[in-house]
This record gives sequence, structure tokens and C-alpha cells, in this order.
Amino acid sequence: MGKILNLQYESPKTHRQSTGSMEIKNQTKNSADLYFYGDICSSSWDVWQNEDMCPQDVADFLNNLNGVQNINIYINSGGGDSFAGLAIFNILKRNGAHMDVYVDGLAASAASVIAMVGCLDGNTLHMPPGAQLMIHDAWTIAPGNANDFEQLVIQLRKCDQSYSEVYASCSNDDMTADQFRAMQDAETWMTGEEAAGYFKNIDASGEQIAASVDSMFFSKYKHVPASFLHKPVPKHKTETLIIHDGVIPSNISTDKAPDDTAWSKPTLSDFTDKQWGDLTEQEKRDIAGHYAWAEEMPPDTFGNLKYGHHDPKSHKVVFNGLVACAARIDQSDIPDADLPKVKAHLEDHYHDFGKKAPWESDDDDNSDSKAKLKLAKAKARAVLAKSKI
Ligand SMILES: [Zn+2]
Repeated sequence: MGKILNLQYESPKTHRQSTGSMEIKNQTKNSADLYFYGDICSSSWDVWQNEDMCPQDVADFLNNLNGVQNINIYINSGGGDSFAGLAIFNILKRNGAHMDVYVDGLAASAASVIAMVGCLDGNTLHMPPGAQLMIHDAWTIAPGNANDFEQLVIQLRKCDQSYSEVYASCSNDDMTADQFRAMQDAETWMTGEEAAGYFKNIDASGEQIAASVDSMFFSKYKHVPASFLHKPVPKHKTETLIIHDGVIPSNISTDKAPDDTAWSKPTLSDFTDKQWGDLTEQEKRDIAGHYAWAEEMPPDTFGNLKYGHHDPKSHKVVFNGLVACAARIDQSDIPDADLPKVKAHLEDHYHDFGKKAPWESDDDDNSDSKAKLKLAKAKARAVLAKSKI
């Protein structure tokens, strides 16, 4: 007889339902199969906010496994509450049974720390080709006042540290917790083979799997592999156009703001409260994604970004921003070679709005320069296809 504990949470902002479950199947005295499928999150979120404490129903549920000698754990989860992951890891670690953990697709975030049970001595973490592990900084859901949040920040930092200590304790090469902290900070995705370079007791053999998983957290992750999404990852997430002198950052978004949205030149404080030097490389790249030209990637300074046209908050393309860029395009101080590529970037947005860029209209009866622009654009796309930075 199977037992199932449903984990449900509705985002107060989007009202999107997150559904996940823990399920015990095929339980006998000697063995049990435990499944973590979907998001590891529940509306009893508030009791998770302690790295070693579960809501009682979760603890009770996992206590069904006490006395079982062999536990097979199957995971396919985009993640969830970080405190939950740690609490579940600790309960399983204390259990003492022999455990084989199978990543049936994805073990991300909170699920990655549950997967670490497989790396403990005597256990095995099975990650066949196609399976991925993702580690990143701690995450939780919480309402509260400023005091609550101050406390929460402290707890989240502790949780980050606890995660990195769990990863370090499972590492095969004496990697330090600090090294894992850096990987968490960068949001690191790993195949089984890659994970075997960091963690003990990983079996990366087996048949290729083609699992997909839905998670309400994917929108928060920066490097979700296309194979896990029902729709392909937008190009701008993975590709950046490198050109000869400067760089055309990849779009942060290709969504359009309403046509009449006003545009004013963004300042750094429109994007973040931090100083440029305090931003992570990824944050700098994300901000650069609002612009059509950068001196280098990631940009050294905010001032190295030119031709902003995406709203700093919604990231959508603002038509009046395109118009402002177009108005200055010919008095630019960017390298000549970069100009056609900046134009190509802006043009694509113009076309999304069902309009032509001003220089396209100018070229209507000038087939020579039009052909040149076409050629430059084709070249730019060829570089785009080859480059990934
Ligand atoms: Zn753009």
C-alpha cells in the first residue's frame, strides 16, 4: 500500500499553484520506495524556517520509513523551500537505512540537498545521462514585517552555509564549503558526469533519460537547460553576440511593453539598490540585457552600456526607448563595425511592434546599402550562432 503526502502552495503574487508530493510505494519491512516529485513546498511554509525542523506531518510521514533497511529514493523536482530540503536531508541522514537515490530528471535547489543523501558513505546517487543536479542560493517564501525579514535574511544566510557544508561533506575531493558557496552563487547545473567530479558515490551510468519537470521556480532560475522546459529556453538566456569591438548583450526579454509606454533613460538605481561593483557577474549581465551595446561583458561600469530600450523593472521592450535609440544612432561613439549589429538588434524589436526602423525606410530606394546591412546582419547572426559566453 502506498502513502502519499501532497505538498501544495499557491503563490500569493501569481496565484500559480505549486504541487509536489512525497510518496512511499512498495513498502515492506525491508525496503521502501520514496518519491519526491514536483515542488518541495507547502502552505505550512512558516514551520520550515529552521534548518533542522520539519512540519510535523512531514516528519511523521518520513518516520514511516523507520526500521526499513533499504530505501530507494526517486527525485524529479525543480526545487522548493530551502529549509524544507535541509530538514528532509537531516531526517533521511539520521534514518540509517541503505539508500539508493535516483535522479529521474532533475534534482534542483532544495531537491539537490535531498539527493546528497545518495552521496553519503554506503549509499549511491544514480544520475543517468540526461539527469541534472542544480545548486544555488537558499530561497524561501515568507510574509512578515521588517523585523521578521531581518531575521529571515540571517536564517537564509545560515541556510546557504548549511547547504554548502552538506555539499562539502559529500564532496569527493575535499572541496571546501566556500568553493561550493561560489558554485551556489553562480547557480550551477551539473550532469551526472559533471556531478561525479564534485561528489562521492555517484553512478552516472545507465540509459539516457528524457524527463521533463514543471516547476514554478523555473522562472527564478537563470540557467535552466532547455531539455527541462516544455517550451525552449529563449535564445537570450543562453547566447550573447560577441562582436569585434564591443558586445551586443543578449535581450533580457523580448516581450513588448504597451506601445505608448513612456521612456526615460534608466539610471543604475532603477535596476538595483547596489553599487555596480557589488553586483554579481550575472546581475551585471542581466542589466546589460536591457541595452543594445556594451563595451565588454560583463560590463566594467554601468556607463559602458549604451542604447537602453528595455524597462528596468518589467524588462519589456519599450517602443519609445527604441525611438530614442534610433534618434541617436548616427551620432554614436561606438565602433563603426558595431553599428550594423546594434541596428539589427533594434530592428528585430521594431518588427515585433509591427514597424520598421527609421533607417530601414531610408534604405527602401537604396538597394546597395540595404544589401550591405543585410550582409552585416547575416554575419552578426552567424557569430551569434557560434558564440556562447
Ligand atoms: Zn533588446
